[in-house]
Amino acid sequence: MLLLLPAAADESLPADASLPVVATFSILGDLTETIGGARVTVRTLVGPGGDAHVYTPTPADARQLGEAQLLIVNGLGFEGWMDRLVEAAGYGGPIVVATDGVAPRRTEDGGTDPHAWQDPANGRRYIENIRDGLVAVDPDGAAGYRERAAQLLADLDGVAARMSESLAAIPVERRRVVTSHDAFGYFGDAFDIDFIAPVGTSTESEASAADVAALVRQIRREQIPAVFVENISDPRLLEQIRRETGAQLGGTLYSDALSSSDGPAATYLDMLTYNTTTLAAALATAAADIGVEPPAPATSHGDPK
Ligand SMILES: [Zn+2]
Repeated sequence: MLLLLPAAADESLPADASLPVVATFSILGDLTETIGGARVTVRTLVGPGGDAHVYTPTPADARQLGEAQLLIVNGLGFEGWMDRLVEAAGYGGPIVVATDGVAPRRTEDGGTDPHAWQDPANGRRYIENIRDGLVAVDPDGAAGYRERAAQLLADLDGVAARMSESLAAIPVERRRVVTSHDAFGYFGDAFDIDFIAPVGTSTESEASAADVAALVRQIRREQIPAVFVENISDPRLLEQIRRETGAQLGGTLYSDALSSSDGPAATYLDMLTYNTTTLAAALATAAADIGVEPPAPATSHGDPK
């Protein structure tokens, strides 16, 4: 007997009919899953805790990309291995560059800083670009993509407002911190915090002994209050710097990848929130411990009663 089923009320499709999308790293994967909902199947190449700067694609990655109908990349030189993978996979479909429309931050040596996602204002562009890419390749799902993206943008605005609020409490003299690599330039520009690192915007290069010695002197001279390890980098160098300088260990910042799903930074919004909370907790404490005089007790100008 043949049953004619009514059209499903929701827009979800069976798994084999969903849109196959490849995202290069976990932050893009999370945004794409949220915007795509049940209509897409997202395969993320560099997963939670992974370092996309130095990733080596696998044959399985090439197969997955070969079957994808949309590829989502960060751009700004972040995924140096991407062109070779596209070629190996024979991928000829559309590519969303999530940073399209972002004002790129220049590094001190004239390069381009790819870590644009660390500024929530740029996160808006990521969401809009991913939404538009999904709509273009799957117009039947447009209403759902737009609705979920609008909700995500609203949630991001709420997170960004709370970030500004908690970071505003950090005293001016404590707005300098050290991280493993130079991944927080956009964050620092957005929230007026100076991030310093022993290596540049890529983890491909290693810090030289001279770089580390210069950084140790700078931390002591400028009384930089805290160093932070990163989820994607070996913490040993930062531990050494902390021991040599007496700076406080501020905790772990999520720089280029999310945490696993049971960790504190499992989504883009959770990552922004967790990094902000970690920075604020380490930096917004009393200024007295770095030798800054506490404010003099207030004197009463009121009329004693
Ligand atoms: Zn990085």
